[in-house]
Amino acid sequence: MTASSAPDSTAAAGQISYKDTLNLLQTPFSMRANAKQREPEIQAFWADQRLYERLSQQNPGAAFTLHDGPPYANGALHVGHALNKILKDIINKTALLQGKRARFVPGWDCHGLPIELKVLQGLSSTERAELTPLSLRQKAHAYALEQVEGQKAGFRRWGIWADWDQPYLTLQKSYEAAQIGVFGAMVLAGHIYRGLKPVHWSPSSRTALAEAELEYPDGHTSPSVFAAFPAVELPEPLAAALTTAGLSADDATAPGGLAVAIWTTTPWTLPANLAVSVNGRLDYAICAVAPQGDTPAPAVSHLVVAAELREGLESGLGLQLTPLLTMKGEALEGLVYRHPLLERTSPVVIGGDYITTEAGTGLVHTAPGHGVDDFNTGRKYNLPVLCPVDEAGNLTAEAGPFAGTNVLKDANPTILSALEATGLLLKQERYEHRYPYDWRTKKPTIFRATEQWFASVEGFRQAALEAIAAVEWLPASGRNRIEAMVSERGDWCISRQRTWGVPIPVFYHRETGEVLLNAATLEHIQGLIAEHGADVWWQRDEAGLLPQPYAADAAQWRKGTDTMDVWFDSGSSWAGVLGGIAGGSPRAPELHYPADLYLEGSDQHRGWFQSSLLTSVAVNGQAPYKRVLTHGFTLDEKGRKMSKSLGNVVDPAVLVEGGKNEKQEPAYGADVLRLWVSSVDYSADVPLGPGIVKQLADVYRKVRNTARYLLGNLHDFDPERDAVPYDALPLLDQWMLQRTAALIDAVSGDFERFEFYRFFQALQNFCVVDLSNVYLDIAKDRLYVSGANDARRRSCQTVLSLVVERLAGLIAPVLCHMAEDIWQNLPYPVAERSVFERGWPTAPERWRQPQLEEPMERIAALRALVNRQLESCRSAGSLGASLEARVQLELADSDSTAPLRRALDWLAASPHPLVDNLGDWLLVSQLQLGGTAPAAVLAETCEEGITVRIARAEGHKCERCWHYETDIGTHSAHPSLCGRCVAVLA
Ligand SMILES: [Zn+2]
Repeated sequence: MTASSAPDSTAAAGQISYKDTLNLLQTPFSMRANAKQREPEIQAFWADQRLYERLSQQNPGAAFTLHDGPPYANGALHVGHALNKILKDIINKTALLQGKRARFVPGWDCHGLPIELKVLQGLSSTERAELTPLSLRQKAHAYALEQVEGQKAGFRRWGIWADWDQPYLTLQKSYEAAQIGVFGAMVLAGHIYRGLKPVHWSPSSRTALAEAELEYPDGHTSPSVFAAFPAVELPEPLAAALTTAGLSADDATAPGGLAVAIWTTTPWTLPANLAVSVNGRLDYAICAVAPQGDTPAPAVSHLVVAAELREGLESGLGLQLTPLLTMKGEALEGLVYRHPLLERTSPVVIGGDYITTEAGTGLVHTAPGHGVDDFNTGRKYNLPVLCPVDEAGNLTAEAGPFAGTNVLKDANPTILSALEATGLLLKQERYEHRYPYDWRTKKPTIFRATEQWFASVEGFRQAALEAIAAVEWLPASGRNRIEAMVSERGDWCISRQRTWGVPIPVFYHRETGEVLLNAATLEHIQGLIAEHGADVWWQRDEAGLLPQPYAADAAQWRKGTDTMDVWFDSGSSWAGVLGGIAGGSPRAPELHYPADLYLEGSDQHRGWFQSSLLTSVAVNGQAPYKRVLTHGFTLDEKGRKMSKSLGNVVDPAVLVEGGKNEKQEPAYGADVLRLWVSSVDYSADVPLGPGIVKQLADVYRKVRNTARYLLGNLHDFDPERDAVPYDALPLLDQWMLQRTAALIDAVSGDFERFEFYRFFQALQNFCVVDLSNVYLDIAKDRLYVSGANDARRRSCQTVLSLVVERLAGLIAPVLCHMAEDIWQNLPYPVAERSVFERGWPTAPERWRQPQLEEPMERIAALRALVNRQLESCRSAGSLGASLEARVQLELADSDSTAPLRRALDWLAASPHPLVDNLGDWLLVSQLQLGGTAPAAVLAETCEEGITVRIARAEGHKCERCWHYETDIGTHSAHPSLCGRCVAVLA
């Protein structure tokens, strides 16, 4: 399908060079993409034309809002960023081509701990000591902006269209003010409260963490500990029942008597123990204890365990447990036990259905300061929220002799050896289980009760579930995920003990601790932040922050030091960017709330999709989006995570711009990266590696070469002057337009459903099969050999120009640079300066002639059969080019050949025999239907009633068209040419 396969006529010296009389390819559109240079040139052309700005603001259609989920402003771009932003860009470019006003305001998430840590890490210890909150904030601000610029340059190089000069940043004044507006609206609606509550706490970061900031690495082990808490008082009915069973209440409550058995994997919480909880509906057994084998005798004579667990515990603890009495858990309520390590007693209480017989003893060690269930049970019994652990994870004086030990270091061993010394440690071993870690420091977290600010999800959970039901989730499984998460989640802890963030704008009374947070203070501070940015909270004292009348008594008040969870920042973007809050306005007139689409990785069901949903529902009672589309994650070619240690990281910058050694790491260009994004089924995790990149580069070249061939054959074509009307086109050309219409219809649907991988497959099939293998293969003779202005050639060029313009449009959302390059190299004038101004390709209704497909398929099958025979002659050395052949066809008068006979009749009836000609379609010089077999048959086959015989063509080879003709030598002016070529030259 390239110029080199055209007849290459080298005339002898002194004769005419017939090669010069052929119509060969001419186009500046090069075979090589030269993407490193060409793509930036095309981007400069778009910028110069203000193309994105014009289309997104002046298109005639509806506004389309794909709201950008802000990436974190830290670190180099990776292929995950590429998958996300390119998917968004494909959708936006499609919308722009469809005439919609698809304004895309990109965002960055700029606050939070990772940036704060980056800044701190870059400082010397002296600098750190001198650091004020304000100077830390200034450094973090500068760092974030620098990161934004770096990432932005990468996004732009990928050809992403957006408001790059006016992105939204969560550190912008207007954004911060809108976020305070969201917080304020939630406060006034009663959804925000302050409480002492166990939260996920990271001792290594010294802050509370959100669910989304936790990870659960494999292989975590904790000490699994069984301990006995000795009874000191029994409720009267239990005492009576025990006496009846043979154990007097005095014996039971004496030292070495009855104990409740508990199990824990966090021994450091034992000093905070304030109760043991049972499930009132479960059966419990009081058992006599005797050691088995070499297990030392415990310091108790009887143990209470869940009846169902007794047998398992016998072997697990190495103790004989002989049941004396069985009762429901509720009968144990009111038993008082002695703390095994501290001088205090605590009660047995009824917990809830969270107490099961899946593990442990069925009796749960309860520390209300260190667990959510514990906290809730403690609240029922008015137990204090004891939390003898400080923010660094050190036990405090309230932990008695264990004060100063650290929960992640020496607290567990110290407490266990103290317990062992009492004889109340029944067993300890290592235990592997899921345990939450801080995703940043990779260190274990703990539950720790602290004073925090919460959004009460309970207050709007039902509304959130209704909002979820009103959203279209793609894939549909996304709905189940977020629904389950929202139904089960607890209240949202939104405060963080950090500096780099938006302040929680609250004041505390210096003496009473009373909280000052109302419409007046909120509005005032929102105004200050809108004017000065959130720094104002640290720049001013209370007198400078409080509105009247409070400012007059500013000395009474202390401003809070907590900042907001960054998920609250990004979760407020529907207000900060789309203006979806009372008094708010969108960043650009084309943006609207709720957005048409949110599109992020599937982990955002618990992240941004959810935080955005919760804030939006809490304030407006509706979701901030109409549709949510999710994508998976990028893996290597073997399905493994990309990591530096595995050496399998694909750096998108290297893929696009090339590596240090361009032989090994060539610059494939942004279009190949974009083509990858279109090729994957992103509803699951997607692979990428060097092998895949090579395959994609091949596909890219196929498309490019197809386009080059189309352009190269149009160099002397002007549609105004030369185009052949549809009705005057041969069947072959009408078939090609039918295929083009089918492609447009299929691809339009693929883009509508965001199924870009189907586009990728359809595009390849169209270029390789329909165009290269069939249409262009047959068309070579028409294009090169016919007279330049011959209808046989002009009709083909008509099709090529119709196809190439549409092909450019169809690939434009994905291969945007190549599409524009094609457009800029159209060899005739078009009304639109850019392919993106042409709009989404359409096909006139009359192109759709599906009845042309069936006969073409029959003839294509015949071509394949004939080609196999020609190929066998070539390998036998009896024949060279297919034009050296004469083919005889004989069709049996049977049902099996009927479809082919109909197809040949259809072809023979064509009013354009110079094009719709079976011999030309088979690329042979002579074709004979029926009749007597040729004299010297080189190959013969009969399949399903179709006999094909190959012989040498009669006559001699025409020096110009390479056809074998019997009239060579009869034309005195051109003795080496056939009559057809002589006529062309005349
Ligand atoms: Zn000829």
